[in-house]
Amino acid sequence: MIDGVLADPTIVKVALEERTYDIVIGRNQIATLGARAAALRAGAKAAIVTDDAVARLHLKAAEAALAAAGVATNRIIVEAGEGTKSFAGFECVCEGLLAARVERGDLVVALGGGVVGDLAGFAAAAVRRGLDYIQVPTTLLAQVDSSVGGKTAINSRHGKNLVGAFHQPILVVADTLALDTLPLRQFRAGYAEIAKYGLLGDAGFFSWLEANAKEVFAGGAAREHAIATSCRMKAAIVARDERESGDRALLNLGHTFGHALEAAAGFSERLFHGEAVALGMALAAEFSVRIGVLAPQHAARAIRHLAGAGLPVKLADVPGGVPDADRLMELISQDKKVRRGKLTFVLLRDIGAAYIANDVESALLRAFLVEKLDRQ
Ligand code: NAD
Repeated sequence: MIDGVLADPTIVKVALEERTYDIVIGRNQIATLGARAAALRAGAKAAIVTDDAVARLHLKAAEAALAAAGVATNRIIVEAGEGTKSFAGFECVCEGLLAARVERGDLVVALGGGVVGDLAGFAAAAVRRGLDYIQVPTTLLAQVDSSVGGKTAINSRHGKNLVGAFHQPILVVADTLALDTLPLRQFRAGYAEIAKYGLLGDAGFFSWLEANAKEVFAGGAAREHAIATSCRMKAAIVARDERESGDRALLNLGHTFGHALEAAAGFSERLFHGEAVALGMALAAEFSVRIGVLAPQHAARAIRHLAGAGLPVKLADVPGGVPDADRLMELISQDKKVRRGKLTFVLLRDIGAAYIANDVESALLRAFLVEKLDRQ
């Protein structure tokens, strides 16, 4: 495949009856955004929501593609970073959409990483009681995870993603060329979510990643294969359980610990979401060993792969340190995956076999954390 030349993309379908949509994966696919938008919603105009960093790199290409297909555009540019997934950020995007006179029948285009996708998606769910939107994910994490599945949200002072809505996009355009401008640390953070799919449900894919991680980082066909495989898994899980009443919770592998650690780091540059998920998965694997459901060599294998990809796997890997076990327990129980006092965790039985444990004893978990903190 040659940069700038359109090759056939990989298309993954998210099968949700009347809300079915395509994920288009391939190099330079932003160039097809206008034609795809016009084909789906003839005559609509588009408000592009993006952040300042992505605007500098990829906004022109998105605007040009839309203009070439005769789609009129407006732009709403927010500040990059998790802090923007806030009530203030939400207000800014909603007011921006209304100021741009976006009507029912028009489109919102979320151009950026998971922050922009979650924020713009939630604004699209709320403004005029629901606008159609297109995800154009520009981080690896967003391409393999956050842009697919229709979960949109902002954070509250009580925790991450606590205010939001299920609102499916009508299309996802994952341009793998856009990842060439992504800093390595952000790429690694996205890789954590790719490894997550192998760990939670596909041992064969996990083995493939062990053999091909270098090529995935290098780009080209292996990267596209890893993204498409991840999207296929997410699409299948979402199609089975759109609103997370069952299976979809498996996608939260590593997230209960991860969210607590992200909150402890103040949702800052100290620990990116994907990094927190990697560390959360390592802890979930070790905790699975502790309660006797996972053989130690499988946990060691999972952790070795994550560490080999340059991801944090120990509490001591968090720059600036982590709080004590009581504070971590408090943060864990603030997370929404807690039902009637019992902790719900996604744990591992094997590589490629995650399960949802609904009744994890908090005393056991606290003891585990105390031990992990002592060993730092
Ligand atoms: P992000 O959106 O903050 O992007 C990371 C950084 O990369 C930002 O500074 C951004 O400006 C920059 N960036 C984006 N694309 C770039 C590019 N191509 N080149 C250079 N820089 C680029 O973070 P993220 O990791 O993409 O997403 C994290 C968010 O996603 C979290 O808020 C998390 O809760 C959410 N999330 C949501 C879901 C879901 O199902 N909705 C799933 C997973 C994660």
